[in-house]
Amino acid sequence: MSLLDIVIWPDARLTRVCAPVPIITPEIVRLMADMFDTMYDAPGRGLAAPQVGRSERIFVFDAGWKEGNPTPIACVNPEIIALSEDRLTGEEGCLSIPDTPMDIERAAQVTLRWTDVEGTHERTFSGSEAVIVQHEYDHLDGIVIYDRVEKDDAQ
Ligand code: ZN
Repeated sequence: MSLLDIVIWPDARLTRVCAPVPIITPEIVRLMADMFDTMYDAPGRGLAAPQVGRSERIFVFDAGWKEGNPTPIACVNPEIIALSEDRLTGEEGCLSIPDTPMDIERAAQVTLRWTDVEGTHERTFSGSEAVIVQHEYDHLDGIVIYDRVEKDDAQ
């Protein structure tokens, strides 16, 4: 098990757009295992590559482990296929913005396609999983929850 340092906002590494992963090498597999270790240790429910100083399109999440119902999912090159019209607003925290939860509006359901060592998957997530997926996906485009709050205020 190895823990990675979590990048704390403001840090330029949290604002860059990440690049697709051409091939899942053993190094990438190890990175994802380390990201899970780091996320559970933090403790958090999701962690994206820029949060550990990397610039690949990778995130890991596990919505239920804190309630004793672990469902770990590692996403390489995730793509959002669809977002529902239904919206929900809930409090979100970010391991890179400690102790600063913010109310963010999200789609209530998100359909995601991603790759892992086993192949390509597509699933529709709802509830807390949908929120985590959208939060972590944002990190891959250099977006943090502060940006979402500001956009809502500007509307
Ligand atoms: Zn975050």
